[in-house]
Amino acid sequence: MILQDPEFGDVIVRKNPLSSSVRFSISTSGKLQMSVPKYTSNFLLKRLLNTNRELIKNSLPVNNPKTQRARDEKKKILTNQAKKYLPYRLEYLAKLYGYEFDKCRLTHANTRWGSCSSNRTISLNIGLMQIPEKLRDYVIIHELAHLNHMDHSNAFWQEVGEHDPHYKEHRKKLKMFSPGV
Ligand SMILES: [Zn+2]
Repeated sequence: MILQDPEFGDVIVRKNPLSSSVRFSISTSGKLQMSVPKYTSNFLLKRLLNTNRELIKNSLPVNNPKTQRARDEKKKILTNQAKKYLPYRLEYLAKLYGYEFDKCRLTHANTRWGSCSSNRTISLNIGLMQIPEKLRDYVIIHELAHLNHMDHSNAFWQEVGEHDPHYKEHRKKLKMFSPGV
């Protein structure tokens, strides 16, 4: 069953005939989960939650619904900005340096700024809208160069360097940012 809590949002309650005490954990979806003995009343459930509130907050990475909502909102804004900018910037730089790609996809992965697949689709992370333009262009040039070199060989880096002479510095600076929203 699900319990509504003003602070934690949905709390997943698992009534376990084998357990004799309460145990708090985090579900795979980031929600607070409590495992309790089978005949725990709703009244007791709420009291257990209240008496353990501080402990839960200090020891578990609970997804606060407020922060979650703020993150969703930010993602929406970034996606809108990215839609209006990234495909056009990609097209512009591709034309400027003589590349032909097939498709541009927008992503919001937490780990990658961009990628280039063998079917000439270039994926760009919406998080690019949050970093300086020079670094953003470096990522785009990097992915464009993958159209000719599907690896990070010397020939690849040489090509990146032709279009972004400061790529080494940009690459280093990029590590200070994370693509996650
Ligand atoms: Zn690469």
